[in-house]
Amino acid sequence: MAETRQVWRLAKRPVGDIRDGDLVFRDEPLPELQEGQFLLKVGYLSLDPTNRIWMSDMEQYMPPVELGAPMRGGVVGRVVASRKPGYEPGMLVAGFSEWASHIVTDGTGMGPFPEIPGLSVAQLFGTLAAVGPTAYFGLLDIGQPKPGETLVVSAAAGGVGQIVGQIGKLKGCKVIGIAGGADKCRYITQELGFDHAIDYKSQDVGAELDRIAPEGVDINFEQVGGKIMSAVLDRMKVFGRVPLCGMISGYNATDGEEEPGRWTMLLMRRLTIRGFIVSDFADRFPEAYQALIGWMLEGKVKTRQDVRPGLDKADEHVKLLYSGGNFGKLLVQVADI
Ligand code: NAP
Repeated sequence: MAETRQVWRLAKRPVGDIRDGDLVFRDEPLPELQEGQFLLKVGYLSLDPTNRIWMSDMEQYMPPVELGAPMRGGVVGRVVASRKPGYEPGMLVAGFSEWASHIVTDGTGMGPFPEIPGLSVAQLFGTLAAVGPTAYFGLLDIGQPKPGETLVVSAAAGGVGQIVGQIGKLKGCKVIGIAGGADKCRYITQELGFDHAIDYKSQDVGAELDRIAPEGVDINFEQVGGKIMSAVLDRMKVFGRVPLCGMISGYNATDGEEEPGRWTMLLMRRLTIRGFIVSDFADRFPEAYQALIGWMLEGKVKTRQDVRPGLDKADEHVKLLYSGGNFGKLLVQVADI
């Protein structure tokens, strides 16, 4: 059994982009297992845009990570020793925990994770925790898609976006994805079946929307904010819906400026805009898991993971999210499990 573990701790709150020294990587002794605890060997760490929010002390939906504390993150791993009934060695367990190689825990925020023949741990973890439920509830509950409607999704080749577009197709929508670069645009149309892609890095988003969706937009699944959001909002139909999922273009901003309000237009078009955090739907996660696993096994929803080796490089890997360097749900492979 391991006697030490490797862990990332938050040393400084980043200003702007995450920089060397904001996080520190350490070898630490493993605490002795107490009654009611188990030891988890981490297999994969999920890196998510919200990590940058947790590193800051801006207003947010859960407490920021405290300075000096282990960096918070989603993990999946295998129990290697246990003094907690129901958590036997060999079991897969996932949940909110720490950027670490091993975790001694009483299981708060964690739970057993399924093993499904035909789906790898990376595929399943990279879909269910928690980009898949985000796409599922954001689109179906808030977006309310109907056959024939036009759905636009930004950050379309990423963890959430790729799933939103495919569920939109299953619901009979015309799906337009906005992504950065030709490879991502080719992927979402040719591999995932989106109707159109707009490469915001080389095309004018507004002009492209006018060309491919002259009818206007019923649902804008918003993940980016800024100019891309403005271009889509300008083209919303009356009674359009906006699941407000993320605003990644502003996560590293230092000017603290918010998007300008456009209240008169929102009123005239009677738009419904609802911000949401996937945990708002936690009591219905089993419904999303069942649907997503079913679609994956039937080949109706494909999910792509971008798996990077090495916990020791996690501080570099996480930066990929804010530059578009990831292609699919970003995971770190910490160990073979
Ligand atoms: P992701 O899409 O896999 O990765 C982030 C992507 O955002 C990048 O690959 C990049 O794609 C795009 N991006 C980054 N900076 C950008 C910018 N300045 N302008 C335009 N695009 C930019 O990450 P994800 O986990 O699926 O998250 C996507 C969004 O959903 C984020 O805003 C995240 O905060 C949000 N989210 C919300 C919830 C919730 O509960 N509300 C849960 C999960 C995620 P390109 O190469 O295409 O630029």
